[in-house]
Amino acid sequence: MDNKGFVMSGLAFLLIIPSIILLIVLVNMINLDDSSNIMMTTDTTFHISGDVERNIPILTRQTIKETTENVVQTGNPVSNSRGVIKNRIQTKINDLISEYQNNTGINIQCNILSVDSSSDPFEVEINSTISVQKDNISYNRNIIQKVPIIGLKPTKIFSEETHEYNEIPDPLPFIKCKNYGGLKVNMGRITYGSTLSNYLNKKGVKNYTMYENSSSGLYIKKCPFDPYISHGNSNKLQTLKNCIENGYYHESNDGACFLCRLEGKAICSHYGLETFIVPAGTNKSVSTAPCSIDHVLFNDDLNGIYNGEAVEYYSTFNLYFRIFLDNGHRTKYGISNIETFSENQISNKEN
Ligand SMILES: [Zn+2]
Ligand SMILES: [Zn+2]
Repeated sequence: MDNKGFVMSGLAFLLIIPSIILLIVLVNMINLDDSSNIMMTTDTTFHISGDVERNIPILTRQTIKETTENVVQTGNPVSNSRGVIKNRIQTKINDLISEYQNNTGINIQCNILSVDSSSDPFEVEINSTISVQKDNISYNRNIIQKVPIIGLKPTKIFSEETHEYNEIPDPLPFIKCKNYGGLKVNMGRITYGSTLSNYLNKKGVKNYTMYENSSSGLYIKKCPFDPYISHGNSNKLQTLKNCIENGYYHESNDGACFLCRLEGKAICSHYGLETFIVPAGTNKSVSTAPCSIDHVLFNDDLNGIYNGEAVEYYSTFNLYFRIFLDNGHRTKYGISNIETFSENQISNKEN
């Protein structure tokens, strides 16, 4: 009995060996399958997360453009522009995400945490989190993105919609001038007619008539003449003339940032923007007038609307084209050493 039992257990042992080998192979196969599944899932979550991430700046641009165009139409400021824009981007992102979820069954979340001014005033900063979950795999990411507010050249995404430069207008003049007569928009410029002089007059500003038929740039366009002191370098102020005629915007410590402009503020604590508001050509001799910088003319405080000295950047046989700049802005644009035309010179010309 003892011997038989021994033989049986020996046989059983021999039978067990292939089973073990088979089991090992099977387990390996299962493992292999599992790992390829993991790779596929990770790929999809990465792909979707990347897609959502790429869409945030596009939806942000769209939102800022729509919000700004609404202000331009109505003249009504957006109170708490950061919060309003944040919520509007979130709504657009949620629509996008529910589409992904319906198509893939993958659980995605994207929260826009904040929309704020950036260290570069030609950008806004978007802070968000993306999390993607599928089975046991989850992927989380915090992202900070900088979205330009200057015009963009057509890209694949933008050209499909508009086939043109996707430029964003400056909302500030439309808010400030709302109750002082209409603004006209023509060829990328704002023409003020009597609106700005009317506005300045009602504020109690002297010499307001210089801003009769003045104009300024409509879109936020970054001035290419950098460093700014080069504005005064060229012969006959050709660079300054070029900048003025293109309605370029400049970085500014005083001028409001884009998001504060949407709220109707001319100045703010953030690093911001400024542009020239340009008086119409005249045959009159004027050497001093309110400073031709937007954040000066649109300053809420009457004391903030200071004067500047005439800088003549162009003239025809009987029309003189001038802007008025204080010492600070002359220095900034490199115009401090250039002689401006005194009353005397101007009246000589007129004679
Ligand atoms: Zn410039
Ligand atoms: Zn600001």
